[in-house]
Amino acid sequence: MSSIRSTHSHSHTHVKTDMGFLPPTTALVDGLPPLGGQGGQGVGVKVLDLEGAAHHVEDLYPDPAVLSTYYASPDKSLLKPIPLTWGAPTATLRGPLVVSHKPSAIAHRNAIGAHSGSYSIYRALAMALNTLDPAHVPDYTNTHPPFPVTPNASWFDPGKIVSLDPWGHLAQTEFEEHNKRGLDVRPTISLTKAHIKMSELDRAFQRGEILPDGKVVHNSLPRESPLGTSKENNGRKEEDAGVEVTTSKAAVEPVWHLPGMAARFGISEDLLRRALFEETGGMYPELITRPDLKVFLPPIGGLTVYIFGNPQHLRDPTKELTLRVHDECNGSDVFGSDICTCRPYLIYGIEEAIKCAQRGGVGLVVYFRKEGRALGEVTKYLVYNSRKRTGDTADRYFKATELIAGVKDMRFQALMPDVLHWLGVQKIDNMISMSDMKHDAIVSSGIPILKRYDIPAELLPPDSQVEIDAKIAAGYFSAQKQVKMEDLHLTVGRAWEDLEH
Ligand SMILES: [Zn+2]
Repeated sequence: MSSIRSTHSHSHTHVKTDMGFLPPTTALVDGLPPLGGQGGQGVGVKVLDLEGAAHHVEDLYPDPAVLSTYYASPDKSLLKPIPLTWGAPTATLRGPLVVSHKPSAIAHRNAIGAHSGSYSIYRALAMALNTLDPAHVPDYTNTHPPFPVTPNASWFDPGKIVSLDPWGHLAQTEFEEHNKRGLDVRPTISLTKAHIKMSELDRAFQRGEILPDGKVVHNSLPRESPLGTSKENNGRKEEDAGVEVTTSKAAVEPVWHLPGMAARFGISEDLLRRALFEETGGMYPELITRPDLKVFLPPIGGLTVYIFGNPQHLRDPTKELTLRVHDECNGSDVFGSDICTCRPYLIYGIEEAIKCAQRGGVGLVVYFRKEGRALGEVTKYLVYNSRKRTGDTADRYFKATELIAGVKDMRFQALMPDVLHWLGVQKIDNMISMSDMKHDAIVSSGIPILKRYDIPAELLPPDSQVEIDAKIAAGYFSAQKQVKMEDLHLTVGRAWEDLEH
């Protein structure tokens, strides 16, 4: 009995062209009724892409679908997972992450899920629509990191880092040989360098709060001013274009070591696996059928690291370090919503990180894709509506979220310090955050925080007072303000009257 089970065993009429995956010119129906019902959009039926090319299921996927693999099967000859030892002292001893469903890799998989988090779904569309060649092999030439993130003791403690792969930025070089064997080992982290330019930083420069130093902060090239509001240079009207800031950054996709995750949360691995299986609608049967596979690449967003100053200073305890850990809030971060403090707090964190780098230290901003306290933006807007329709008072701030989502927050900050340990952070001098959850998670993971800073009052949008007061009353850190629970009903936000002009 095979340990890899298949969906269907009936035979297909099969057409292949010289190009391998170009579609046949005649429509083939394999005898199954179409799943889509209308227009022949079903299993084994020709579909057209934008260029008029067509795919058959069998052209793209000649082998029957593998619904799951089974560790308990008596015949394990088809299961040959590449050994993976989380926390091992070298990349070679740790082993590559093999998660691909390619025929050359599927029997050797040692991880559940798929690369690129939720973007794996777009990869599926590209494949189905014939815009991505299934035989494409990534060319990693010149993709290696432009600055080093080197191994440190935390990488070799299997309990210290459980939600990302510390070797993830080196996969293309460390596991090149595995890739040559068709195992499709992909980086889960990439590092790069960039300039950033933000209008708030330009204004801070104009106020004299941020000064160009030629290293971290640079003058932007003057730009032409059509209104002629500024000085003239060789007949060209120019205006000051402010500043730009150099940064080193890292994009990190989640890689979960399930035993370590379970231990971190104090639950059993079985319970974690079952909950992940059920709440993803059964998307990953191997969470149940392959207890020998200990790593899961979840379909969620990851995080981005922004480093200001020398990245090597992050691991040097003699250098001052300023940190802002920020959870995504698209409405404020990008679109400037005034109902919360997210963008002002983010900018404040970036400014303090820059200033720390200019003092000879290093600044670190970590941006997590945990929109709306990891409840998502749809839930968030429902909460906004509920707040605005019931009189937006600070005493109802958390209650409104709980009524709709059942919880106040699903960010689970216990995983957040992993990225700090990956970077080798030893201690934090300045923590730009009011959150006790973030503070406690970092400190209990073994990284001391010397000083905390809440957002200066002058940076708060007026309508965000509801959020700030509710947070302070609930125990968030503030050096500036005390708010009592019984006074929360006095903090009232705007309703919608002023939106209906
Ligand atoms: Zn926000």
